Amino acid sequence: MKGFLKKIHPHQHTLSREVSFSGIGLHSGLPVSMVIKPAEVDTGIRFFRTDLQEEIPALMDRVVDTTMATTLAERNASVSTTEHLLAALTGLGIDNALVELDGSEVPIMDGSAAPFVQIVRRVERKPQGVCRKLLKITREITFRAGDTEIRLLPYDGYKVTCEIDFDHQLIKNQKYSVEVNSKRFIKEIASARTFGFMDQIEKLRANGLALGGSLANAVVVDRTRVLNVEGLRFSDEFVRHKVLDLIGDLALLGCQIIGHVVARRSGHGHHLGLMKEIVAHPECWEFVTLEKHEEEGVLTRVVSSTREAGNMILPFLVPANSVATAPSLRGS
Ligand SMILES: [Zn+2]
Repeated sequence: MKGFLKKIHPHQHTLSREVSFSGIGLHSGLPVSMVIKPAEVDTGIRFFRTDLQEEIPALMDRVVDTTMATTLAERNASVSTTEHLLAALTGLGIDNALVELDGSEVPIMDGSAAPFVQIVRRVERKPQGVCRKLLKITREITFRAGDTEIRLLPYDGYKVTCEIDFDHQLIKNQKYSVEVNSKRFIKEIASARTFGFMDQIEKLRANGLALGGSLANAVVVDRTRVLNVEGLRFSDEFVRHKVLDLIGDLALLGCQIIGHVVARRSGHGHHLGLMKEIVAHPECWEFVTLEKHEEEGVLTRVVSSTREAGNMILPFLVPANSVATAPSLRGS
């Protein structure tokens, strides 16, 4: 049990210096420049629209749209397609960062998280000496809608399992399960690209969407084959991308889960649905920190249990430093 928890880093991290990207927005097709900067302890991930001078925290209560991608907004400023970047930062163990951009979309790059991972890894990850607050699942939470089911189970680590089912001969039923740590994320998940179907893409274009979409940033399939000349990066690239999207969307909780997410036929809207179920069931989780102990390895310490505090608050929607003062401190 403690072996798994050891794989979750106990301390908060940021980047040692800023990194820059440029690319185009998937839907607008317009160029966008993005800079990821180091940030203080307990900042979390925040977007900043330099053109509108507006900050948008990467938190679930800022989600305004989940139709094609996840879109966040604060007042009149929005940022969309946040999921691949947030997955990359989660996969690399970056807790605190300021993401500045001059347009309304995170650049689509090649449709995966690999370019973000490659560029962010050029700079050192900087430990910040303060414990991370982790959301530990203590009882099962389930979200259901139609054919979709997402279960969140107690587990001594962070694991994601996705299953997809498409009535298409190239995809059909695919399932993938991964322990979310930097090594496995980089190797197995980061480079899986978003995908689309030729007939859908024609409809999107007609509606002024996916204007920046091309074979350079998505896997496109017609009825029988992959249209990209280079083919697939993995035979099950489709389901691996679903894992990527799920990790990126769940980052909007503002802290990492200790638990196992098992999703079947899920999309961005369902991921938000699961997060709302988490908020609605504070008796099923608690906040913990991991602390190093010389003889016994890594120990879990409960920093606040909403169950004990009377289920009154949605602690991950308030700044972390006010949660630390919650009355129910208990060692374990
Ligand atoms: Zn995606």
